[in-house]
Amino acid sequence: MRFRFPFFIAFFLFAITLQANTYCPFCDSLVLERQAFYEDDLVYALYTHMPITEGHCLVIPKRHVANFEELNDQELQRIGQAIQKVDAAAKKVFSTGPYLLHQKNGKEVGQSVFHVHFHYVPRKIGQSSLMALLSKVLIAQLKGPISHQKMKEVTSKLKENIEK
Ligand SMILES: [Zn+2]
Repeated sequence: MRFRFPFFIAFFLFAITLQANTYCPFCDSLVLERQAFYEDDLVYALYTHMPITEGHCLVIPKRHVANFEELNDQELQRIGQAIQKVDAAAKKVFSTGPYLLHQKNGKEVGQSVFHVHFHYVPRKIGQSSLMALLSKVLIAQLKGPISHQKMKEVTSKLKENIEK
């Protein structure tokens, strides 16, 4: 009998690589079920699993496209409206005021998930400088993901407070 084991290993590694290259968390129904607190026919709003500040949300199109320039007019309009709804809800739930919006296109500018997503990062009025906010980016990385329990608490509060 011929020894076929290496073929299985090769196939297994190939399958893993393929999955790693094609996996998109924003197209994963489990991620959406856990993190989304708003949706219409074109967009979702999610609470991020690694918040830079309390209230850090994401707005994404339902359609899987990597970059901003691939969005159509309707999606652009809905995303804008959803960001405003998220802002109003976040202000009620977290008593925040000022907020940072950011969105990256290309790995060279730090994009790591290649499905267009807008970050909504709120702060409380009078909270310290932009530098302090930037240091929170690192702290969020070090802290890692929030618990499922915390995610549930936050998303249910946002669901209750967001305009439908
Ligand atoms: Zn996707």
